Amino acid sequence: MQALRLWTLLATYAVAVGQNQGQKNQECPKLNAQMPEFQKKTVHIKDPERVEEIICGLIKGGAAKLQIITDFDMTLSRFSYNGKRCPTCHNIIDNSKLITEECRKKLLQLKETYYAIEIDPALTIEEKYPYMVEWYNKSHALLIEQGLQKDKFAEIVRESDVMLKEGYENFFDKLSEHNIPVFIFSAGIGDILEEVIHQAGVYHSNVKVVSNFMDFDENGILKGFKGELIHVYNKHDGALKNTEYFKQLKDNSNIILLGDSQGDLSMADGVANVEHILKIGYLNDKVDELLEKYMDSYDIVLVKDESLEVANSILQKIL
Ligand code: C5P
Ligand code: MG
Repeated sequence: MQALRLWTLLATYAVAVGQNQGQKNQECPKLNAQMPEFQKKTVHIKDPERVEEIICGLIKGGAAKLQIITDFDMTLSRFSYNGKRCPTCHNIIDNSKLITEECRKKLLQLKETYYAIEIDPALTIEEKYPYMVEWYNKSHALLIEQGLQKDKFAEIVRESDVMLKEGYENFFDKLSEHNIPVFIFSAGIGDILEEVIHQAGVYHSNVKVVSNFMDFDENGILKGFKGELIHVYNKHDGALKNTEYFKQLKDNSNIILLGDSQGDLSMADGVANVEHILKIGYLNDKVDELLEKYMDSYDIVLVKDESLEVANSILQKIL
């Protein structure tokens, strides 16, 4: 009789331990075993254990503590499709019928010079910084000269080759369903960006866009840009200008940050209270030269990856 009681006790204990372990595994998944998306060849992680720990922290915090801070061009939008480069917000205008051939040529020349500097592995952020200011000032001045009409933007976005990354519907819809704040922080052009996500049907009420917004005259003709310039390498300053937004989200101390540039790493600098932050970086260009640098600064590096699968798999575990 006593042996039977002992056996029952042991069996109950074993089941309880098993359940606990089961639960723990469920809460803190092993990357490759329980998240097959991490087996993709595009995924590069320097310290998988640290990433597991961060994901575990994000899962434990759940929806209540989560917020997303993300770049737009080449992070939410695709870098290429079928071997062809996709446009940035600026390029949607550059390539459009709203621009004269002469101006298009000038914009293209600027892009050749300054994009090479933007991604030059041999230059530091400090060295690149003044060139980015130069690029934006010159290209924005050219756009103003063209007298762009705001009411043509929907059409040029529709006619452009812009595409959001694979899995974007799932990404935005899930975040909206759980009312997770999404801060899109872009050195692109806000008016174009908003049109892209509006046309894609994902500009939900949980999404806030901070970017370079155009200023129009009473006839809807571009006359300048509002506020201070956001370029690729001053997102730190922009982040600190949005502390009011982040103050309202003081309990959202768990962050998933998505970017594609070294400049995007400072997008969460305006958040006062950070418990866990997972930085996911898309590496699209100059992969061989930049991979090590990206792996040192981003927790997860996605090389030439045109999807949001990894982010979605993490959201799936959290929400
Ligand atoms: O959204 P995100 O911050 O990535 O937007 C910035 C991007 O816009 C940069 O990657 C840069 O290459 C691009 N850009 C452009 N034309 C300009 C200025 C910036 O395509 N005149
Ligand atoms: Mg970008």
